[in-house]
Amino acid sequence: MIPAIKAAYPEYTRNVLIVSTHPDELDANRRQSSFSYFDFVFNLQPFFLQTNADKIIAGDNVYRCVECGKIFTTQNEVPTNRQPRCRQHRN
Ligand SMILES: [Zn+2]
Repeated sequence: MIPAIKAAYPEYTRNVLIVSTHPDELDANRRQSSFSYFDFVFNLQPFFLQTNADKIIAGDNVYRCVECGKIFTTQNEVPTNRQPRCRQHRN
């Protein structure tokens, strides 16, 4: 996507914000395209969805799993004497 943005908007590194999943989570076999934005110097740091998911998800019961870091929501509040764990790590 970056080459297209560069062609359409030559000053893209000054005020384009990259919003993406973190490259570490992408399939290593497809790394060529996912890591290419590290070759560019942006004034604005990339906004990685995984590290900001807790700010995007709305609700009263938004938690980050203590085991894997995954953001999840629950219908009921996690009791204060228990640590939040996603569905996968609760079982
Ligand atoms: Zn988890």
